[in-house]
Amino acid sequence: MQTSAGIRHLADVRCVHCARVAGQWEWATDAPEGHGTFRAGDGAEQAGVLWRLRCSACGGPVYLEEERSIHAQEMPDFGPMRRGRKPRQRVG
Ligand SMILES: [Zn+2]
Repeated sequence: MQTSAGIRHLADVRCVHCARVAGQWEWATDAPEGHGTFRAGDGAEQAGVLWRLRCSACGGPVYLEEERSIHAQEMPDFGPMRRGRKPRQRVG
């Protein structure tokens, strides 16, 4: 028996106006429609609603590109976490 729980979807978020990929949108099959997590190019994550997303460069509306399904068990590796790499910004 197969259940849709645990399956997540991932798609690139692209701007309609300037065609930049602002980041990735990830959502669960069983989440309310439009609800998910936006993962920006710099790795920052923000839970929210899809239609509230705006392009960070020009503020234009965005759309989802090709969607792919991923199982929770086989979450892709989003690259090495770069910890301990804080910029030195202690002036004064
Ligand atoms: Zn844009």
